[in-house]
Amino acid sequence: MQYYDSNTVLYLNGQFIKSAETTTDLYGQSLHYGYAVFEGIRAYNTHNGTRIFKAKEHFDRLQRSAELMHIPFPFDKDELIRQTYKLLKKNNLKDAYIRPLVYSGQNMTLEAATESSIMICAWEWGAYLGNKLVKVGISSYQRPNPKSTHIEAKASGHYVNSILATTEAKKNGYDEALLLDMDNFIAEGSGANIFIEKNGKVYTPALGSILAGITRATVIKLCRTLDIECIEKQLTVEELKNADSAFFCGTAAEIIGIASVDDTTFPSVWTETLGATLQRTYKALVLEKQNYEVII
Ligand code: PMP
Repeated sequence: MQYYDSNTVLYLNGQFIKSAETTTDLYGQSLHYGYAVFEGIRAYNTHNGTRIFKAKEHFDRLQRSAELMHIPFPFDKDELIRQTYKLLKKNNLKDAYIRPLVYSGQNMTLEAATESSIMICAWEWGAYLGNKLVKVGISSYQRPNPKSTHIEAKASGHYVNSILATTEAKKNGYDEALLLDMDNFIAEGSGANIFIEKNGKVYTPALGSILAGITRATVIKLCRTLDIECIEKQLTVEELKNADSAFFCGTAAEIIGIASVDDTTFPSVWTETLGATLQRTYKALVLEKQNYEVII
């Protein structure tokens, strides 16, 4: 896929420049060591105009990720949100995926960065895992041990683990990987959180070994609004395979139902699950079709 053309502009340290004219420093610490933090955000073409969904939450997490990784974050988040709206306008984007990246410059040492840059780019991107139910394989790769890194930070280097897991899953005929944590509890997908449904309640892995997804938090709040009991706890593979249904959620993937995990197919018809109700409600929320924001 082509992410930009000769007319595309991106935001770099306070300026808009043509994506095709940008350069990368091949002596950059971020490039060599995966030492950078980023976000994945969506903008939707709503009846109120183009709206960036949960902009504040995403830029707050970007700052928190940078702080955890000791990468300077001298940026004004409200200004970044304003500039992101400008970026969408300049690129004529209404429905878009937005990618801010905070990275460090020339430095081959393993010492924390003393300066950083921010770039924000955007492109049109359909649902990351498609619109059909996905076939999931449990990965032989675990999520990084939370004692080896700050797993709650959205750090570039963590995504080598995600690339290994998706590559393995696709090679084995699955659409997506599901990774366990170091204690073999269910953690998350390579780029999405997981929920399961059992006997009219939904469950999702507790925080600790996963990225605290903004979509996950939204789903938990939607459950409250819809009077669906939602329990955050450690979940075993057995509990997952005995579930009635399951779904992934994330900014890029939105909410997408899971057909099967390994050889186990979930018994419920997707359209009749709580996941499908949450999927419809989430879509209405991001498109501002109903004013759930006043409630959640
Ligand atoms: N887990 C991982 C590993 C991810 O990369 C993502 C995508 N950012 C998520 C979960 C979902 O997070 P969010 O809902 O904030 O996009």
